[in-house]
Amino acid sequence: MVFIKSLNKNIWPFYVAPKEDELFTSWFYRMSLECGIRPIPFSNSCFGRDTPFWNRDIDFIIPKKIIQIVLKYTPLNKEEVINMSLQKYSGLAFENLKLNSHNFNVNPIGVKHRKRKQYGLVYCPSCINDNYFRISWRLQTSIFCVKCKKRLIDRCFKCNEPISFYRINFGRKKRMNEFLFFCSNCGADLRKVNIQEITLSELLYQNFIDTTIRLGYNHVSNYSFSYIKVLLMLSSKVKTSSDLNQFKINFQEKYNIKIEGKREMFYLTSIEDKRKILVKVNEMLMGWPETFFKVYRLKKFNNSNLVDNIDKMPYWVYFNLKFKS
Ligand SMILES: [Zn+2]
Ligand SMILES: [Zn+2]
Repeated sequence: MVFIKSLNKNIWPFYVAPKEDELFTSWFYRMSLECGIRPIPFSNSCFGRDTPFWNRDIDFIIPKKIIQIVLKYTPLNKEEVINMSLQKYSGLAFENLKLNSHNFNVNPIGVKHRKRKQYGLVYCPSCINDNYFRISWRLQTSIFCVKCKKRLIDRCFKCNEPISFYRINFGRKKRMNEFLFFCSNCGADLRKVNIQEITLSELLYQNFIDTTIRLGYNHVSNYSFSYIKVLLMLSSKVKTSSDLNQFKINFQEKYNIKIEGKREMFYLTSIEDKRKILVKVNEMLMGWPETFFKVYRLKKFNNSNLVDNIDKMPYWVYFNLKFKS
C-alpha cells in the first residue's frame, strides 16, 4: 500500500488508468499485469478467495463488494468504476439490466466454471492493438468498427474458441504475457485474422446505431433503447421463424436475402449471421414507417407473424400496426 496525500488514502502500489470504454475485467487484468501477478491470484488477493470473479460475468453488473474494494484502493470514483460495466449503457443501448434474465442487446458469454461457452465478447482486429477490450463489444448491435471500418470478430480464427483473454496467463510455468490479443486456447495472434472490407451500407448501419446510443434517441423513436429493442425483436423474428412466416417471406423478398430458419435464439447466433440480418432490418426501420409498410403490404399477413403480443410493443410501433396497417 502507498499513502497518497491528495487522495488521503492508501492505494495499491501499482495503478493503471482505465482506457476509453474499457471493460472492467480488461482493466483489472491489466492491473494484475502491472503488479506482476497472474489474474487469479491477483483477484484472490484483492477480493478474497470466496468472492467469485472469473467464474461469473463481472462486467455485467459489478458486485457492490468488489466496487467498494476498488474504491478503497484506487484513485477511481464510484461512477468511474460502474462505467466500466455494461451498466454504462443502461437507458441507452437497453432499458435496464436484470440479473438472471434475458437482457436485450447484451451478448451472453456463457460462463461455465472459469470457461466461456458463448461467443459474447467480440473485438476489432485493429483496435485490439491498443491492448484492451471495449464495453461496447459486449452489445449485440456492435458488429462493425466505424473508426477502423472493419468487421468485429467473435472467436479465434484458428481454433474457433470464444475470446477469453483472462485465460492467457493461466499456468504458472509459462512466462507472463502482457498482451491481450492472443487466443488463450491456441496462442494465435487475433490481430492477424483475414477479414473482408465492410460495405457502405454496413458502415451506415453501425454509424446510425452508435449515434442512436450516444444521443439516446433517433428520428424514429424518442428512446434509443426502444428503437434497439424493436430492431432486435424483428431480427429475431427473421432469424428464428419458420420459412412459412409471411413477414419473413416478405422481408426476404424485399431485401433480396435468404435467411436459413434456425431454432437457435438470435442472441446466440454467430456474429456473421447477425450481420446479415441486423443491417437489413435496420435499413427497413430507418425509413419507418414507409419502408416497413412496403414489406408489410407485400403480401398480407396476421400480426402474430410479426410480434407475439402487439400490446407489448412500444407506442410508435403499436400505433402504426393498430391504426395504419
Ligand atoms: Zn477498430
Ligand atoms: Zn485459438
